[in-house]
Amino acid sequence: MTFSLPSLKRKELVEKLIRSGIKDKKVLDAINTVKREFFVNEEFKRYAYDNNALPINCNQTISQPYTVAFMTELLELKEGEKVLEIGTGSGYQAAILKVMGAEVYSVEKYEELYLKAKSTLGSLNYKINLKCGDGTKGWNEFAPYDGIIVTAGSPKIPEILIEQLSPGGRLVIPVGDRHSQQIWQVKKVKRNGDFKQDITRFDDFKFVPLVWEEGW
Ligand code: SAH
Repeated sequence: MTFSLPSLKRKELVEKLIRSGIKDKKVLDAINTVKREFFVNEEFKRYAYDNNALPINCNQTISQPYTVAFMTELLELKEGEKVLEIGTGSGYQAAILKVMGAEVYSVEKYEELYLKAKSTLGSLNYKINLKCGDGTKGWNEFAPYDGIIVTAGSPKIPEILIEQLSPGGRLVIPVGDRHSQQIWQVKKVKRNGDFKQDITRFDDFKFVPLVWEEGW
């Protein structure tokens, strides 16, 4: 069997993620499918399959593949579920969610990034609902969501995102100060007739900041 170079590199990346503890087969298959080289700028294409964050326009970054895999695993997505991403950036994370069979909505603050992600995702034929605006307010029109993933670091949980989760829904969000954040998985559960948040916190990560009203 012959492999083109990017597909070989993708396979190596997947093996690295497995060694780092990523177990969800659907997540690993998605990483093995989505062509990350299309989501990075020309000058970084040769680093597309390094397990690193890389610069994109507007002083933002495409997240490290390990971080994408870790957060996506925590979404615990089932086929056909509806998921909202805050921080489209390059569109890579949105493509991963789409390949996993989710119905994907994604909001980006910078128009330049929104337009570029729209063109990248369109050219690769990933049908994703994109919006340019402040994601700290969620996307009410299509709520509730089974999963919400925030790909920028936040000082707190924007309450409106919890409101836009369906019962049993999962919010995955980096929470912390400007220098480092923990990834929180927040499950919206019904207990004694009221909605409660079950929070599990994971390791330290470093994200670009979530900005605007509910962010920094
Ligand atoms: N998920 C992206 C990673 C992008 S980095 C990818 O796969 O490439 C985080 C993104 O969040 C940046 O693009 C940044 O502009 C965006 N962002 C920050 N604050 C935001 C907000 N309030 N609303 C929407 N997007 C925001």
